[in-house]
Amino acid sequence: MTVGSDLLHRYSGAMVQVFGPPQLVLASGHGCWVTDVDGKRYLDLLSGIAVNALGHGHPALVQAVAKQAEQAIHISNFFTSEPAILLAERLLTLANAPAGSGVFFANSGAEAIEAAIKLSRRTGRKRIVALEGSFHGRTTGALALTHKPAYREPFEPLIPEVTFVPPGDEEALREAVDEATAALVIEPIQGEAGVRELTAEYLRLARELTSRHGALLVLDEIQTGIGRTGHWFAHQAAGIIPDAMTLAKGLGGGVPIGALVTFGGEVSTLLGAGQHGTTFGGNPLACAAGLAVLDTIEREDLLGNARTVGAMLDSLTLDGVSATRGRGLLRAIELSGIPAPAAMAAAREAGFIVNAVTPTALRLTPPLILTEAELQGFIDALPAILETARSAS
Ligand SMILES: *Cc1c(COP(=O)(O)O)cnc(C)c1O
Repeated sequence: MTVGSDLLHRYSGAMVQVFGPPQLVLASGHGCWVTDVDGKRYLDLLSGIAVNALGHGHPALVQAVAKQAEQAIHISNFFTSEPAILLAERLLTLANAPAGSGVFFANSGAEAIEAAIKLSRRTGRKRIVALEGSFHGRTTGALALTHKPAYREPFEPLIPEVTFVPPGDEEALREAVDEATAALVIEPIQGEAGVRELTAEYLRLARELTSRHGALLVLDEIQTGIGRTGHWFAHQAAGIIPDAMTLAKGLGGGVPIGALVTFGGEVSTLLGAGQHGTTFGGNPLACAAGLAVLDTIEREDLLGNARTVGAMLDSLTLDGVSATRGRGLLRAIELSGIPAPAAMAAAREAGFIVNAVTPTALRLTPPLILTEAELQGFIDALPAILETARSAS
């Protein structure tokens, strides 16, 4: 019996089984590589689902976290800290946010969405428009905006007055957004739906319709933000400014943090003193991690790296691959005639961590530090991986 199989057996005796059986027991990571408890190494092309933006053990992040842990990990929101203020200022600058904009720090993506939902209620309206295929999180508020019935239905009733429209359908959007709409909530690229991009035209229409009807445009950049697509935030490619944006995943490089960014003075004063809060949100440890991530992305030009390395997948033509989607280092490989779970398992056997994001597509969300040589290693191994998967299924 391996160390891993013993631990996995104990896992099933100790954990609530909401995630299904874990694939591996991981022990450590370095750069884009992780090692399991039995010493096997894998190229991590998932990075904790778009979280480990700097890979594993990046010295800038390790040092920032160690230094901040020595100074103060947590102080409560009766007080504030320099890292929190610096990180908020930095995010507003990177987002080209106008004067009067603000940041609310939370601890996860779902919590950032919860803050956005409460923000939208302060418009005096209740209706929220979201997209089919959307994923906004698992807390009961965020779940109401998450389209997948299997996630949502066991927990209904959830918050009412949420309408789902088909992504990319301009007519449906025109019909759905009106004077009763509090917010339109959109992921610029739908990650969990299988890396489905919305066009710049659609995003601009979303901006136009919400402005015209006095509704908030909330962009969920939890997966697409912090450089993942080769821009700081995916919506910047469409040249729009939202009313609010949610962040999490990549922001802390693995240290839990979420954020709601509100754009402009009017939106940023909708939530007043006492109307929202969190114990851990904005703690100096997470904020110091966020600053180290943003500094490193800038210093190492990881936006450029995401673009150039990601572009290697644009031209992927291979037997068993019907299409590739996505931008930067948020990518999906659509398979034909090969179930994605079988391909994921074969990739893992071959030493590559990827994710079967749909029954037919693999998702790649590697660290933004991924090199061309590392990705080439996967591309070279892919024919054999797909062949193994084809014969196993
Ligand atoms: C992951 C994700 C969330 C939820 O974030 P959690 O930190 O898991 O709560 C929400 N929206 C999008 C787009 C995500 O990818």
